[in-house]
Amino acid sequence: MDFRLGERSDAFRVKAKQFLSGHLTDEVREQMRSTGVHHNWDFHRARAAHGLLAPGWPEEFGGEGRDALEVLASAEEFQSAGAPTYGVGTTLMVANVIRHLGTEDQKRLILPQALSGDIIIVLGFTEPEAGSDVAAAQTRAVRDGDEWVINGQKMFTTNAQEADYVFLLTRTNPEVAKHKGLTTFLVPLRQAGVEIQPVITVSGERTNLTFYSDVRVDDSLRIGEIDGGWHVMTVGLTFERSIPQGGDSVRLIHAMEQWALASVDDVGRPRSEDPDVLARLGRAAAECEVTILLARRCAWLHHSGILPGVEGSMAKLFASESLTRQSADFVDMLGPDGIRSEGDATAIAEGIAEYSYRYALGTTTYGGTSEIQRNIIAQRGLGLPRPS
Ligand SMILES: Cc1cc2nc3c(=O)[nH]c(=O)nc-3n(C[C@H](O)[C@H](O)[C@H](O)COP(=O)(O)OP(=O)(O)OC[C@H]3O[C@@H](n4cnc5c(N)ncnc54)[C@H](O)[C@@H]3O)c2cc1C
Repeated sequence: MDFRLGERSDAFRVKAKQFLSGHLTDEVREQMRSTGVHHNWDFHRARAAHGLLAPGWPEEFGGEGRDALEVLASAEEFQSAGAPTYGVGTTLMVANVIRHLGTEDQKRLILPQALSGDIIIVLGFTEPEAGSDVAAAQTRAVRDGDEWVINGQKMFTTNAQEADYVFLLTRTNPEVAKHKGLTTFLVPLRQAGVEIQPVITVSGERTNLTFYSDVRVDDSLRIGEIDGGWHVMTVGLTFERSIPQGGDSVRLIHAMEQWALASVDDVGRPRSEDPDVLARLGRAAAECEVTILLARRCAWLHHSGILPGVEGSMAKLFASESLTRQSADFVDMLGPDGIRSEGDATAIAEGIAEYSYRYALGTTTYGGTSEIQRNIIAQRGLGLPRPS
């Protein structure tokens, strides 16, 4: 058994690090912090220009044909550095769906723009009354000649204000079982009838409510079969499973380590000699390693031609729940100083523990809540029955 990712991955990791040291500037970080938007167009286009946006895609589509371990190595660097990556993640997920299920015209229209960093695509699944039970979506699409007319509302359409298209899950047949009456479309966002309202989360992250009022979309932008949206969604989710995890924990632990090395307690003893500080750091470091390895297992499965299933749920669940634990633990360790936010001159390590405490809450929700991940692991992993 070899836990290393290999020489090619190591070399590609170095390329990612070099890119990040030149392009993840203080200005990019400040823009993310002040707007809560985890996408930056200049950074995104530069990433594409350096072959780091979609390196795993075949060369015919503009990628470099790199394997899943190389892709993971570079993605780990982007995540650990805290780079703006939301736009890349959703765009590549939809691009993969189009590559596998789209028409030739859709591939010609969308893929070159998506892979060159010129457009981003966001996800419009969740609704006010349909989140975990995504198949309960009510946003209606009704056919009118060669077009469809869309009416409804989506919740948490992250990055809609930056995006060119939303990958929209709609109800096209209300008469059949809920999974059987869904259809997906690529809906251009910059058109009449689309309204985007910002929603700011507890961590200051920006997401959106999106409203669709008699929005017209050509049938050529339908992805997959009419009423075949559930199959399209299933294909889409399989591409979400090889993403790195643990980057947020890596940054948090590193900052706490630096604090322990550089500061002393009330009696002048270095924090790095305090058994309580060491215990907290040691526990967090071990958890962080587990998180990284669970995600690497998914990439290894992908690399071996096997689609990760419950392994992806385990990685996502462990990453978000351990980040939640670590953040709370470090806020507690820092005492009153731990609840000072970035911007306060007295905040420790720019308030990273306090920010992480708020940010971790969202990570246990998006991409499937912790309860849903645990259900998947118990049912598909252990083989327990679904509740009737
Ligand atoms: C910051 C952020 C960004 C997001 N970005 C996007 C995006 O870009 N696009 C998008 O479409 N969505 C996005 N989401 C939405 C996210 O995927 C949903 O919030 C999530 O799927 C949960 O849905 P819900 O909020 O409706 O909660 P609900 O499904 O109503 O769940 C409420 C609670 O009940 C629990 N629960 C529900 N069903 C079960 C069950 N069967 N068993 C046990 N417990 C259950 C849940 O775990 C949760 O604790 C985002 C969310 C956040 C917070």
